[in-house]
Amino acid sequence: MENKNIDRKNFFKRVSLFGIGAIGATTLLKACGGGEEAPQQTPEAAPAPSEDPCGDLSGLSEAEIQGRESLNYVAETPNPEERCDNCALWIEPAGDSPCGGCSIMAGPIHPAGWCSAWVAG
Ligand code: SF4
Repeated sequence: MENKNIDRKNFFKRVSLFGIGAIGATTLLKACGGGEEAPQQTPEAAPAPSEDPCGDLSGLSEAEIQGRESLNYVAETPNPEERCDNCALWIEPAGDSPCGGCSIMAGPIHPAGWCSAWVAG
């Protein structure tokens, strides 16, 4: 009889310790983000060419487009100190257009753009 009580006590002790351990492990897993899918981070998308207000090249010939490409024109300068709107070859926008022009390049030019022919203005 006495042995049965001891066995029962040990049984309940073990069950309660196991239960606390399980709850603790679950809490720890949740705190560490385990058991749940980590939210996926998407890299910030580069602006699509269609979002460039000066990106419409539909009026240009293939040779004119190649001319822009050969001078590595980009709508966003890699060097803030060298921008189209502070280049000696920059042509100010006409009217209320956000796009200017360039003395050596056909088509609309973004003021914050750049190409490898940049010259201090
Ligand atoms: S030469 Fe290049 S940097 Fe200068 S205005 Fe023309 S496209 Fe922009």
